Amino acid sequence: MPVVQRVCVLGSTGSIGVNTLDVIARHPDRLSVYALSAHSRINELAAQALQHAPRVVIVPDAHARQRFIDIWPAGRTCPEIRVGAQALADTAADTEVTTVMAAIVGAAGLPGALAAARAGKRVLLANKEALVAAGSLFMQAVRTAGAELLPIDSEHNAIFQCLPQTADRVRAPFRPAEGVRRLLLTASGGPFRCTAIEQLEHVTPEQACAHPNWRMGRKISVDSATMLNKGLEVIEAHWLFAMPMDRIQVVVHPQSVVHSMVEYIDGSILAQLGQPDMRTPIAFGLGFPERIESGVGLLELARLGHLDFETPDLIRFPCLRLSLAALRQGQEACITLNAANEIAVDGFLRGQIRYTQIPAIIEYCLDAAAGSRQKALGSLDDVLHLDAHTRRLATDFCRASC
Ligand code: NAD
Ligand code: MG
Repeated sequence: MPVVQRVCVLGSTGSIGVNTLDVIARHPDRLSVYALSAHSRINELAAQALQHAPRVVIVPDAHARQRFIDIWPAGRTCPEIRVGAQALADTAADTEVTTVMAAIVGAAGLPGALAAARAGKRVLLANKEALVAAGSLFMQAVRTAGAELLPIDSEHNAIFQCLPQTADRVRAPFRPAEGVRRLLLTASGGPFRCTAIEQLEHVTPEQACAHPNWRMGRKISVDSATMLNKGLEVIEAHWLFAMPMDRIQVVVHPQSVVHSMVEYIDGSILAQLGQPDMRTPIAFGLGFPERIESGVGLLELARLGHLDFETPDLIRFPCLRLSLAALRQGQEACITLNAANEIAVDGFLRGQIRYTQIPAIIEYCLDAAAGSRQKALGSLDDVLHLDAHTRRLATDFCRASC
């Protein structure tokens, strides 16, 4: 009999959260839900809690707590309701929890993911922004606490699957795996890969969120359209696999079937292929080291016919260029890049700024950070402080531009 994992799903009402619960429900013999969290969709959280019977739910404030109580049906045992950001981190570190799915979007997910690492949990990391903002701190916490780190982002999960199968591969590496020359990160190119560049100024949030291959939350969908997502993923791969950035190559692959590749010094390239469905990497993380059913259908290669690969266009996708520059500059620039982007994308989704202003806002904040004094960034508080400072700067810039 497999050991039963008690899973805390941070961000359970999101796209990754819902897919995680779908996989968990397929394996009642080995997976159970200990905690669920939501920031806004409290009705959906209650529906999830009725189906999965967690011991704990976490909501952002007293208002959301009352709403949860009001809609909870009489006669059913109500889960313990914990409130606020600290409760997310405390629950991730709860002794009852074995496994944490870090699926909150944005830097808001960092404290919970870090708390899970510090408590030595199995951490299933979807929240790439945690590594972008605090890669060094996070990987150090994994090492010190002996946590297990499994990448859920499909590209990093693919790379993880293609790396040598060593006994310590869930521990944070200090150096690139033996024999590996490069990591090849695939990117779909998003909905605007072929749009005339002069039309980009007029694209709407709905068009930006209509990803050709993946169904995802709105923030990551816009990031995929600008390819900032791929920039965040280069930074993520740099930390996860201890790989210098000049050995990480982005390859545009419009079909999203090859999820990423590892190139070895003997000329071999290993790839992981599959349907573009996040339940595959989620099931990999939940089942590791065994393979478990995910509900994902077969990939009919003959029906696909061909797979295409291209070099990314840094003129069309300035956010990718800015991300690579930020990684070259260091942690302060990476925190700035991420925070400025979160504000810019939010402004675009609310209709306050145009799509083409997203890179302008990021560049403005990066320039401002480059001109400021280098700050110490050794603690979570330091990171959150710079994150908050950049958000204020980006918000002011957004207001001034609309
Ligand atoms: P989403 O927008 O669908 O869901 C986000 C979740 O986070 C929701 O449950 C929401 O309630 C919660 N949340 C939002 N703001 C919060 C806050 N301030 N505090 C606490 N909780 C908050 O996002 P998603 O698409 O599921 O993405 C989640 C993370 O996974 C992101 O970091 C994303 O980059 C990463 N990821 C997603 C996919 C995908 O296919 N969706 C793929 C790879 C990586
Ligand atoms: Mg990805």
